[in-house]
Amino acid sequence: MAERILIVEDNKTLAKLIAKKIGAELDFEVDMAHSLSETKLFLSRYSYFLTLLDINLPDAPNGEVVDYVIEKKNHVIVLSGNIDKEFRAKVLKKNIIDYVNKSGINDVNYIIQMIKRVQKNQNHKILVVDDSLVFRKQMQSMLENMFFKVITVAHGEEALGMLNANPDISLVLTDYHMPVLNGLELTYEIRKNFTKNDLAIIVVSSDNDEETTALFLKNGANDYIKKPFSKEEFSCRINNSIEALENIHAVTNHASRDFLTGLYNRRYFFSNMPAYFEKAMNENEYFAIAMINIDHFKKINDTYGHDSGDKIINTLADILRANTNQDDMVSRFGGEEFCVVVKNTSKNSALEIFEKLREMAQNSTTLSDKGEAIKFTVSIGVAINHEDTLEESVSQADMMLYNAKQNGRNQVVHN
Ligand code: GH3
Ligand code: MG
Repeated sequence: MAERILIVEDNKTLAKLIAKKIGAELDFEVDMAHSLSETKLFLSRYSYFLTLLDINLPDAPNGEVVDYVIEKKNHVIVLSGNIDKEFRAKVLKKNIIDYVNKSGINDVNYIIQMIKRVQKNQNHKILVVDDSLVFRKQMQSMLENMFFKVITVAHGEEALGMLNANPDISLVLTDYHMPVLNGLELTYEIRKNFTKNDLAIIVVSSDNDEETTALFLKNGANDYIKKPFSKEEFSCRINNSIEALENIHAVTNHASRDFLTGLYNRRYFFSNMPAYFEKAMNENEYFAIAMINIDHFKKINDTYGHDSGDKIINTLADILRANTNQDDMVSRFGGEEFCVVVKNTSKNSALEIFEKLREMAQNSTTLSDKGEAIKFTVSIGVAINHEDTLEESVSQADMMLYNAKQNGRNQVVHN
């Protein structure tokens, strides 16, 4: 079930406009309240992913609704037409995500972008490194309010251990002056194992020496935030670094994936697999390589059309993905040809898996655009005994696939 967003705004036209935009671009149920008393009713009935709050309400003219909603442990974005600097600063001191103007369509677009941002923030872990407990707690609460997962440690040494245990951390937020290992030493150490494409580092320090800032940036920090900082600057800088990381991942992902199925492509296979091949051979980890090809695929295209052919390719991709482990390599080499490497297995279980894949393809039904039920089969060639190199093993699997086709298709053949 979709999560909910509560819009509290006495200007009904504006509330409806925002609700409509959210409905069009995001997957949320939206409720609208026009006063503090209505807000209380909604909060007693539902829990909310996020609330958008107007601070001038008929029954709460001075932002009382913000305190009420925060007290009920909700995430808050404040909407305001009030641009009085002092008032703004006062509201920003509260535990809110953002303070947004609501005077034009651009503001509404900004709100939508912000909601998308915090939704994605849920996928990111941030490691906070600071020897001051008070500061750690403060950053943790700000970051959790921005929907990040947060881990905190007291110094660099501890941070390295934590990174080892959680290599999926997206961002390290570190102080400079700390006991044992300071922020700069920590940055050096982290960059030995993680590039800027893997992990962002932001330094937060009251050291205002310009040389220090440059030193950090030269040695692998992505950004430097000087204490004291405004909450808005803090959240913008954090979100920017996370967004840059996401963009890099999107580009890399694009280059290594097949567009139609989302599986890895041939290029990625041959850039990623040699290292595994060597490691597995050295450590005597058994694995099996299979080439899988759809039988008489040309006939399927000719009978049902190219789009239906694409659907069949996707059906097979789904079967391969669903019946292999996360670590196994499932790739589409091109056309209707796939290469699957089942890792850390035995000869018998590998052959069982490939036989199962063949059966599942045979038993699947795919509907064409016109609703016709399309059936198909696959031939599978397996290199169950390995050659000296990955390329040679793949071409062994290819030979076995050729034999499977020659023997009448819809079968698994191994060397
Ligand atoms: P065999 O059983 O010997 O493998 O016969 P086949 O018809 O499957 O093999 P063939 O190599 O003769 O034909 C493969 C066809 O796949 C030809 C090509 O038009 C089609 N094809 C290649 N890529 C795609 C694709 O991305 N989508 C679709 N729908 N068809 C594709
Ligand atoms: Mg074929």
